[in-house]
Amino acid sequence: MRLILLGAPGVGKGTQAKLIQKQFHIPQISTGDMLREAVRKETVLGRKAKSYMEKGELVPDELIIDLIRERLASKDCQNGFILDGFPRTIPQAEALDRLLKELNLELDGVVEIKVEQEKIIQRLSNRRVCQRCGADYNLITNPPPSDLICPICGGKIVQRPDDNEATISNRLEVYERQTKPLRDYYSQQGKLKTVNGDANVEAVYQAILEALREDGK
Ligand code: AMP
Repeated sequence: MRLILLGAPGVGKGTQAKLIQKQFHIPQISTGDMLREAVRKETVLGRKAKSYMEKGELVPDELIIDLIRERLASKDCQNGFILDGFPRTIPQAEALDRLLKELNLELDGVVEIKVEQEKIIQRLSNRRVCQRCGADYNLITNPPPSDLICPICGGKIVQRPDDNEATISNRLEVYERQTKPLRDYYSQQGKLKTVNGDANVEAVYQAILEALREDGK
């Protein structure tokens, strides 16, 4: 299965991608996670991406497209993948279409997860993440242990530097301006399904599976 999860920051793409990854044994490809790792390791890409990420702006398309090209060619993507946080602009979506054509692959579906803006702001400001394994916590709905040590991997649980109020509001603006047009792009290709993300994790997961079944996949 080759799938894109679309939606604003904080709608639960990462959480859902991890569930799909587990059930279908296909990798979650999160450009955000890949970039954060590059920043941590201070690679050339990381040094270029850092200032954009801190401001909540998008990293230039060329950098992201190169990253994805390399990733999709890896062996573990042969049976499918879940794209989480990519594409985020029309040029990225066009580049992905070209890339899939070259590799002779087709997308099975694009699922948009939708949540009201007010709820998103609440979720992002209460979000905490494990620095090592990326597990997600929420101070209200899924609080981390008080020692802030991840029970899954022993990593440190922190607040992402871009999950502060000013950056959150910029990221949402960037989403409206640059990423939302992808809804029309994939809807014109007959691939877009929308699910309500304002429900518990399991209910959203079932809705995604249902949306994919409707496609006959
Ligand atoms: P995320 O974890 O998906 O919220 O991404 C965190 C940050 O990484 C974003 O605010 C962007 O600065 C950058 N980023 C992640 N994915 C992309 C992408 N596909 N295109 C451009 N920038 C991206």
